[in-house]
Amino acid sequence: MHVVIVGAGQAASQVITGLRQSGSECEITLIGDEADLPYQRPPLSKKFLAGAMDKERLYFKPATYYSESGIDVKTNCHVTRIDRGRKQVFCGESQVISYDKLVLATGSRPRKLPIPNIQLNGIYDLRSIADIEAIRLQTTPGKKLVIVGGGYIGLETAASCKKLGLDVTILEAATRVLERVADPDMSAYFSGLHESHGVDIKTSVQIDSFRSTADGTHVNGVVFKDGSEMDADFIIMGVGIVPNVELAEAAGLDVDNGIIVNENGMTSDPNIFAAGDNTNHPNDLLRRRLRLESVPNAIEQAKAVTAQLLGDTKPYHQIPWFWSDQYDTKLQIIGLADGADRVHMRGDMAENSFARFHFKGDQLIAVEAVNRPAEFMASRQLVPLAAQGQTIDFEMLIDPEITPKHWLKVVA
Ligand code: FAD
Repeated sequence: MHVVIVGAGQAASQVITGLRQSGSECEITLIGDEADLPYQRPPLSKKFLAGAMDKERLYFKPATYYSESGIDVKTNCHVTRIDRGRKQVFCGESQVISYDKLVLATGSRPRKLPIPNIQLNGIYDLRSIADIEAIRLQTTPGKKLVIVGGGYIGLETAASCKKLGLDVTILEAATRVLERVADPDMSAYFSGLHESHGVDIKTSVQIDSFRSTADGTHVNGVVFKDGSEMDADFIIMGVGIVPNVELAEAAGLDVDNGIIVNENGMTSDPNIFAAGDNTNHPNDLLRRRLRLESVPNAIEQAKAVTAQLLGDTKPYHQIPWFWSDQYDTKLQIIGLADGADRVHMRGDMAENSFARFHFKGDQLIAVEAVNRPAEFMASRQLVPLAAQGQTIDFEMLIDPEITPKHWLKVVA
């Protein structure tokens, strides 16, 4: 069997290691359009940007792993077309690769806003090693950085660049940071955290255009719709991502806000699978379809796909979880809090150490833990149990005398 994987990121890496760890000797070709072997992205906006992590540590495996494991890796190679009838993929029209099973692990790419002058030098995306290497050339202490977007990437970037001694402003179009993913109290907590480190956060901002230097080559500021302006030495865009689905769409696969897959990662073609940021997948525990942008999602979906490639079945059966690091604050979230009608709190926001329990009716649906790893670890077991009908007593969760370990004994 020849397995061809398009996209060389998180999900692809998991499929490869899963296949080889199982002892499979199938032929594997990995095709990625970046220059690098598969690497982890989370440190890009955190330790790698802050200069606290070497590039070598980003890679999942050293180059020798691929040669010794008999994996044919093609980097700098963009797959432009799939011929499902002939079971072939094309890198341009010259290079044609046949497959028995195809895995689309194409991830996502930064959203592009149609702001005049967005093509100027000095305006960066933050998605790849190449992006960070370009940004790092600009991060001289005292320089004025404007970050467009107050989501997780924007906030993590602000924290890392503050550590580097930059003057940082975040511009957010919504009325608060993290509006898409957090409730007003969490938004206020993170705004306060950043402001206490000297980050200037401007919300409800409407950008008209980016201002250029006199020679028209480099950005030097932002012009707002109300006519006001601010200076900037460089700009980082963090306004979300769009899934890379065009290849699948052009091949006639079902696509709707992501490549449609079943619980085994199979697309509408039984010889083609997909995993990671690019999928719209069913979640039986949450009883709805989702498209997620997170490492745990890419890993667990890739495991479901690997099982299928091995002739086995290990359906995706997960409650989503996520983390974010900003300064000395580690946020960990299990579950999705949208739809919650009440929140109970353990600990204290003022002390940067708390857990928030989101309930919908009597059901615990999500937990946000800030610098509370024990609460998070226990909640990773509680929230899936709650999704399956287990009642969790909120008074137990907020009682400081009852440890998270004890929660698990009570519900066992
Ligand atoms: P990717 O890892 O993006 O890999 C997809 C690859 O496919 C890319 O290299 C892409 O260039 C390539 N590709 C696309 N189309 C083609 C084509 N046609 N031909 C060839 N190659 C192609 N998640 C968390 O859970 N926690 C975090 O703290 C966190 N922090 C993050 C910080 C940053 C800066 C970023 C960018 C992401 C972060 N994420 C985090 C998200 C997480 O990294 C992604 O969800 C994860 O990488 C998705 O894996 P993937 O395999 O789907 O896609």
